[in-house]
Amino acid sequence: MPIRQLSETMINQIAAGEVIERPASVVKELVENALDAGAGKVEIVTAGGGLNLIRVTDDGSGIPEPELALAIARHCTSKLTEDIHDIRSLGFRGEALPSIGSVSRLSIRSRTATSDSAAEIGIEGGRVLPVRPAAANRGTTVEVRDLFFATPARLKFMKGERAESSATSDVVKRIAIAFPAVRFTLAGSDRSTLELPATDDSAEGSLRRVAQVMGADFPDNSIAIDAMREGVHLTGHVSIPSFTRANALQQYAYVNGRPVRDKLIAGAIRGAFADVLPRDRHAVTVLFLTLDPAIVDVNVHPAKADVRFRDPGLVRGLIVGAVRQALADSGIRAATTGAAGMMAAFRPGAASYGHGGPANGHRSYEASYHASGSAGFDPARSPQRPLDMGFEGFDQRGLRENEQAAFDAGPLASADARAGQSEAAETLLGAVLGAARAQVHENYIVAQTRDSLIIVDQHAAHERLVYEALKNALHSRAVPSQMLLLPEIVDLPEEDAERLAMHSETLARFGLGIERFGPGAVAVRETPSMLGETNVQQLVRDLADEIADNDTVETLKGRLDKIAATMACHGSVRSGRLLKAEEMNALLRQMEATPGSGTCNHGRPTYIELKLADIERLFGRR
Ligand code: ADP
Ligand code: MG
Repeated sequence: MPIRQLSETMINQIAAGEVIERPASVVKELVENALDAGAGKVEIVTAGGGLNLIRVTDDGSGIPEPELALAIARHCTSKLTEDIHDIRSLGFRGEALPSIGSVSRLSIRSRTATSDSAAEIGIEGGRVLPVRPAAANRGTTVEVRDLFFATPARLKFMKGERAESSATSDVVKRIAIAFPAVRFTLAGSDRSTLELPATDDSAEGSLRRVAQVMGADFPDNSIAIDAMREGVHLTGHVSIPSFTRANALQQYAYVNGRPVRDKLIAGAIRGAFADVLPRDRHAVTVLFLTLDPAIVDVNVHPAKADVRFRDPGLVRGLIVGAVRQALADSGIRAATTGAAGMMAAFRPGAASYGHGGPANGHRSYEASYHASGSAGFDPARSPQRPLDMGFEGFDQRGLRENEQAAFDAGPLASADARAGQSEAAETLLGAVLGAARAQVHENYIVAQTRDSLIIVDQHAAHERLVYEALKNALHSRAVPSQMLLLPEIVDLPEEDAERLAMHSETLARFGLGIERFGPGAVAVRETPSMLGETNVQQLVRDLADEIADNDTVETLKGRLDKIAATMACHGSVRSGRLLKAEEMNALLRQMEATPGSGTCNHGRPTYIELKLADIERLFGRR
């Protein structure tokens, strides 16, 4: 075949393949154009998750009639600067409108301040329609219908109306945080709606916008950040360590007002919180970096929103330093680092489980868990003692007959001596997790096998067992629930409330009775009995995160299991409970009988094994 130039439409469709992944990408491009045009109001309407219709209306500068044809021509932009490194507008490539127009039916209706009438142009699957007069107020309305009708292969990748709507809502929220003085509304057939009234560009105005997006309780649970290093300015808010989420979706970052999703920034946030949060919990953050545009490249990828800093170390250092400082100043103490060094010494033993050993953050996890309201709960006295809930797949009677007798009597101090002599205990030494010897610090079971020392994190282990039991219960029957004396009201972002309401039937099967309570809130009337007393607020927020994360990709079963994992985490308050020898051994046997019990639901090990040989090496005896 001879070499030929691609047609204009094909070039645009190829560009669309990169930039326009889904309806949310179209919304992003159109909203950015509206903001570049100086809009004070941006109104977004979608239908069919954006696949049938996306309409963005603004009150910005408008496009002069003679330029309408250029707006939809490739590489035509009014935002051109001579210096590609000095880009101050959100758009600059002149690619979005022609790309969208090559895969959909697009129309632009616009009117400038100086013109007394509006004009309209259309483009359908790359075919340009003639400009004609129209009626409109000042500003621009861009309408995109039948997205991807011209590229049916793309359509197959769409995840369904609800998922696309929620991606769109995320995009709008992300941009809206950077433009507090602009009013945003998002309406769709599917109730994934937003209404964000304009505030102003002051620090307070910015925080009010953040609260509109993140929920009204964020300001009270966050710390302000304001730091400067070598000309790079960092401002914003981060949550206090007890206000965390199960995913990092609520971490927003901006570079010179442009929303970014950047690994370096995400890593710096993780680093800053490493001492105060466990690995599976995520801070809620809104950070704005302001720096000379010449030392940051925002031109890396048209859609991926990542950036390249000339001095990444400086930016990372600034974020980590400023956030840590703010956490320290606010009176929240980071966990001691001594434990981490200690564990590092034991790591050869832990490494055989494929883990780096428990992070020291785990200790603060306990601390923050208790701080968030469960300190007074003693599972031992709870009518729903978790250990007694009758795990399926584990035969407690078998244990009682064989082993329990050997441990039935006596306080812990004598258990060692007794166990050493007893024949039953001798058998236990051959078990994978061995014979329990003692419980230390109210959470660690020390056990002994023939050739190793085992340390079990009883909280983590129990969490796993509760999880497995919940999963089993779930697939066989409904989980019993208890009524709350007073329903608990949880304030949430509207879509979270909506998502939870949509899953209320599923949640009811888990014993969680939840219903809508006006806009942006749900009421919890029942909780699963086996959880005992639990932090309902945190549980509900985590469930909302979980559903947001997994709604479309997981099967129903997987989804239920995920929810079970989240519930198990809240139900396991086993550290702090003193265990008798037989209880410890029962826990070890349950662990042995439960698949996957070597790690807790968050992937941390539930126990570590130190081989005798390694211990001897530690003491220089080998
Ligand atoms: P870019 O934003 O990179 O310039 P686009 O393809 O998104 O490229 O838009 C092309 C041009 O159309 C813009 O440069 C701008 O001049 C004009 N335009 C697009 N949308 C609007 C809008 N909502 N208001 C005013 N002008 C607009
Ligand atoms: Mg643009």
